[in-house]
Amino acid sequence: MAEWENKVRKAVPYTPGEQPKEKEITKLNTNENPYPPSPAVKEALEELNYRDMRLYPAPDAAELVSAIAAEYKVKPESVFVGVGSDDVLSVAFQTFFNSDKPVLFPEITYSFYDVWADIYKIPYEAIPLNNDLTIDPEDYTLENGGIVIANPNAPTGIFMGMDAIESIVKANPGSVVIIDEAYIDFGGESCLPLIKKYDNLLVVQTFSKSRSLAGMRIGFAMGNAALIKYMNDVKFSVNSYTMSRAAIAVGAAVVKDSEYYKGTCAKIIKTREHAKNALTRLGFEFPDSKANFIFAKHSTVEAKKLFEELKKRKIYVRYWDKPIIRDYLRITVGTSTDMQKLTDALTDILK
Ligand SMILES: *Cc1c(COP(=O)(O)O)cnc(C)c1O
Repeated sequence: MAEWENKVRKAVPYTPGEQPKEKEITKLNTNENPYPPSPAVKEALEELNYRDMRLYPAPDAAELVSAIAAEYKVKPESVFVGVGSDDVLSVAFQTFFNSDKPVLFPEITYSFYDVWADIYKIPYEAIPLNNDLTIDPEDYTLENGGIVIANPNAPTGIFMGMDAIESIVKANPGSVVIIDEAYIDFGGESCLPLIKKYDNLLVVQTFSKSRSLAGMRIGFAMGNAALIKYMNDVKFSVNSYTMSRAAIAVGAAVVKDSEYYKGTCAKIIKTREHAKNALTRLGFEFPDSKANFIFAKHSTVEAKKLFEELKKRKIYVRYWDKPIIRDYLRITVGTSTDMQKLTDALTDILK
């Protein structure tokens, strides 16, 4: 090791799902939406003038912030925007998790949380799930430096009701509670109404999943104006111009077309429920998902084997060789044609 390497901040990075270059694959591994985004995206992109790209974008992304505020019926002061919700969550970690006490999150959850905690040197405690993979709100009453929970949780897909979320927020007036609602539009119910009642609640959402815009990188958070102000102070201390002119324009246009994404989400929900039946018939078990994926375990065949066999047939799903979850595959809900390909391949593998 070179001498300078002693001074390097060493990180164990988050591993995203594969993005294979091949065209002819069925990609059910990164929870992307199988449908294209609203046609409003095309219009917004066509209206962009390439000459304007010489100018910095608006540092406050006001056009996007006010469009989100109008859609979700909150004040613009209650909205923070960023480069995907990964950016928003990362700023929230830096802003709110600044204590010697551990930040709490479930042991099985979005695997970016411990990565951010490590890189920002935030102490944390991963709380085991119940045996049925549900979260017990009572576990989140320990002394802590903050709380972050994905709802529906990833990769289980299990949704926790608003009463349970409220009990956690209420029990922790001394900490900020972040609820990561990346998958909320697929059948859950957002805890957004609670931000009026609790000034320590931050609700984070994204355009990547339900609005089919993973490639544009748009995420947002909503909460009490004081929380948002603290986040903006950190953001403006690191990088003022996080969102491109394209992302701001596209985001503002698409948020006004909520009919469109509600339609595609309804299709995905229908396909998901159909896929649940097909997977059950093939011998899989899974918690009841309210997300755009199913976290499934086969009664006899190892997940690793299924993962590899599916890959040979050009179907990509997600698999983690990690304790507790190594028996499971996380299968993104694609179109009904994608799911038919998946069940045909599984039928072939399992015969
Ligand atoms: C996909 C995902 C995100 C982040 O998505 P962005 O594309 O960065 O908005 C955040 N949290 C969870 C639980 C996710 O699954």
